[in-house]
Amino acid sequence: RNFFSSSSVPELKNGHFGQVRELLERASGTRWAGKFLKIRRSSCSRLGLDRSSVEREVEVLQALQHPNIMALRHVFESRAEVVLILELISGGELFDFIADKENLLESEAIVFMEQILEGVGFMHSKHIAHFDLKPENIMLSDKEAPKPNIKLIDFGLAHRFLPGEEYRSMGGTPQYIPPEVINHEPLSTPFYSLLRLSGLSPFQGETNEETLRNVVAMNYKFDERYFSTTSNMAKDFIQKLLVKNPNDRLTAEECLNHPWIKPLTRKQVANRNRSSINMKNFKKFNARRKWKMSYNMVWVCNRLCRLRLLGKSSTDPDEELVRPLCKHTV
Ligand code: ATP
Repeated sequence: RNFFSSSSVPELKNGHFGQVRELLERASGTRWAGKFLKIRRSSCSRLGLDRSSVEREVEVLQALQHPNIMALRHVFESRAEVVLILELISGGELFDFIADKENLLESEAIVFMEQILEGVGFMHSKHIAHFDLKPENIMLSDKEAPKPNIKLIDFGLAHRFLPGEEYRSMGGTPQYIPPEVINHEPLSTPFYSLLRLSGLSPFQGETNEETLRNVVAMNYKFDERYFSTTSNMAKDFIQKLLVKNPNDRLTAEECLNHPWIKPLTRKQVANRNRSSINMKNFKKFNARRKWKMSYNMVWVCNRLCRLRLLGKSSTDPDEELVRPLCKHTV
């Protein structure tokens, strides 16, 4: 009742499980982001989410009130849908902001890294792991601000851990997957995912199999072609995250105290200011990432259109998409 959404207000994005739209709060005129999540109708339905997984996302967001984490303002729910009213983050993705730059010093990149670490460190202090930390989920509250503020979003896969509890995962992209996932061992504080944010993996092989072998054997190198402008402190920071035993990796708090993030001497400060990010490589990585995202989106749209054609006799739009799949699964 208090919220107003209109077609003149832009749709922010379609996620895998719903739509994110800009909303206006009637009373105050404040702009919010509304994340509309469809609830699965039955266990046979392939569309939508289990209510329990949406409740987990809500519970996680309620526990995470931090300047670098997107805030949850309110939740509305019906039988078929849950709407999360979220802080509107209007500065776009961090990686797009960086890719628009001609140059980026390490000291400028560290300002962002520090905020990511603050957000992730807070999450871990509450025994919550994100499990989907990737460039699309790191946004800026306002990119025009002199010091843009990082906001971590999308807690759809986040999990709360009880100390000592084990969690195993099978997913990931070969060059960014931690060895414990390949070896089916329990996950620990997933600091490994910071590697994904560098945009380049030192484990990269000619094929996926070779890359996975390199990860398991911890066989990596900083190729001069890509890392020639990288400071030794940055390489040391990365090396301390690329440790096979998760318990020996730096924690978020330890990362924040590493001299690359928090330099102790003038020489270390000068080192950071002299070194820079390889922008040619970064822009290439970002363009490829965007291309892959639109390719995936087209693939999903085509698939939905095909399913819609198959089920056109139904009067219920959801059932149109679901019924042909259910027939096969039953
Ligand atoms: P996916 O699994 O496809 O990444 P999802 O269904 O889990 O998506 P989100 O990642 O939470 O949904 O949101 C989808 C997109 O909507 C985001 O990538 C982002 O561009 C936009 N978005 C999400 N939350 C906000 C917000 N609070 N403010 C502005 N834009 C947002």
